[in-house]
Amino acid sequence: MNGKKNILIVEDEEDILKLIEIHLIKEGFEVTGAQSGEQAIKVIKDNVFDLIILDLMLPGIDGIEVCKRIKDDAATKELPIIMLTAKGEENDIIKGLESGADDYITKPFSPKVLIARVKTVLRRQENTPYNKDLVINLGKIYIHPAKHEVLLNNRPLKLTSAEFKVLHLLASKPGWVLTRYNIIDEIRGEDYAVTDRSVDVLMVGLRKKLGDFGSYVETVRGVGYRFQA
Ligand code: CA
Repeated sequence: MNGKKNILIVEDEEDILKLIEIHLIKEGFEVTGAQSGEQAIKVIKDNVFDLIILDLMLPGIDGIEVCKRIKDDAATKELPIIMLTAKGEENDIIKGLESGADDYITKPFSPKVLIARVKTVLRRQENTPYNKDLVINLGKIYIHPAKHEVLLNNRPLKLTSAEFKVLHLLASKPGWVLTRYNIIDEIRGEDYAVTDRSVDVLMVGLRKKLGDFGSYVETVRGVGYRFQA
């Protein structure tokens, strides 16, 4: 896939933050730094990240709380988190993993090991298959793949097979930006000459059919689309 992976590092100790930044940048990652939990929560709201490296010991809102908030929010709950803990703080590790962190690393750590963990977690994330059978119920929007049924405010909506697939794909990953490439990949094999342009045409049609809910399908300029209920 095109584009660099975007990683957020949350760490109040500037030296460590810089150290991680340097190594990640060298590996070709896009990096953003935050030095408090409050700042982290703010940048997560305004940006799309592929992974977060999260220190648990932070002033103010600590890492566990940041982790919980990320995992409690449908828009960000799939976002992988690697937490940083002090060596020997097993309780922290357990609390972190229980609040939804995907992996952890103890301080002091070797940057090489951290990079390896980052790559492993990202790979795992990419290989998580999109569940085509997942029933999505957002109250006003209900999508049942096996029955090929969409209900808007309990009223059935008629969609083409490609429209249905795209809506389901987007709604199954709320808040995630899907590139045109992701979408093309999903609807290949349908009755479509699938190009960037035909994806855009498809989205216009889908939005129109969604009516009042059309705004749930957001265009992310130059990138693709995102479902935001
Ligand atoms: Ca710290």
